[in-house]
Amino acid sequence: MENLAVIGGGVMGRGIAYAAALSGHQVLLQDIQPNALEKATSFIEKEVKKSIERGRLQAVEAEECLSRIKFTTSIEEAGMQADLVIEAVLEQMELKVNIFKQLDDVCPNHTILATNTSTMSPTEIGAQTSRPEKCIAMHFFNPPHKMKLVEIVRGLDTSDETFNKAKQAALSMGKEVVEVNEFPGFVTSRMNCLIGNEAMNMLMEGVASAEDIDKAMKLGLNHPMGPLELADLVGLDTRLRNMEYLHATLGEKYRPCPLLAKYVKAGRLGRKSGMGFYNYE
Ligand code: NAD
Repeated sequence: MENLAVIGGGVMGRGIAYAAALSGHQVLLQDIQPNALEKATSFIEKEVKKSIERGRLQAVEAEECLSRIKFTTSIEEAGMQADLVIEAVLEQMELKVNIFKQLDDVCPNHTILATNTSTMSPTEIGAQTSRPEKCIAMHFFNPPHKMKLVEIVRGLDTSDETFNKAKQAALSMGKEVVEVNEFPGFVTSRMNCLIGNEAMNMLMEGVASAEDIDKAMKLGLNHPMGPLELADLVGLDTRLRNMEYLHATLGEKYRPCPLLAKYVKAGRLGRKSGMGFYNYE
């Protein structure tokens, strides 16, 4: 599992690529948008610089780490030599299925195809490839180079060998693993989206300010981040897609808060657009 490819160089893809390179893997990061790759490059360079300044990385190690990450807009180039591909494009079933079909065509037979979906069915994503036994979900957390967990979710046909290799890849990146049976939202998104949605409903109903809702959850319930600041970090467009999928699959309890939909329509996407529940400009 030396060569990794990451498809989608947004918030998660760039961090997964960085985490993999830090742990010694060769990584090819692919995105269809050249400017996403430019942003990913400067993000990774900034993170490396911070780590050197804080004494977490020696200059030589940093240089070696950066030299292990390459960038491309071509999915063929990304898949051609990969042992493991981690897909991190938008949370849309049709797009993910399409990417998996393309990867199935261009990757060697032994390549494992993993999706970083937060909520969706790895069975459905892998079903239209010729290798469902090599398809799996590896759900990383934001930011992936700092967060310890990877949730691993097998599809119906995922083999034990694929599960073990995905687990080994996550462990090799210094992560802890939990195995979760396939169900919408797994453990973490199912729980976290509900908490975030309730916080948004409370904000909309005027129960408390965004600052006080987050402060209450941090100081009263010991959450490391408040649910609204966490939603801003995730990206409100991504969170809305997660909620819509959970609503469609798990029912009424997951109906997305109208305030979330309104913010997304206004282009307030959280940290990545400079404005969400908080202002980052
Ligand atoms: P994002 O919007 O930041 O990035 C998505 C990237 O995919 C963009 O750069 C876009 O250009 C690229 N893309 C779109 N179509 C593509 C294609 N056909 N080929 C290649 N690249 C393409 O999204 P994100 O927040 O990084 O989320 C990615 C996935 O990770 C989603 O499935 C999401 O649910 C999941 N996830 C997100 C978080 C989070 O906190 N943001 C956490 C865990 C999992």
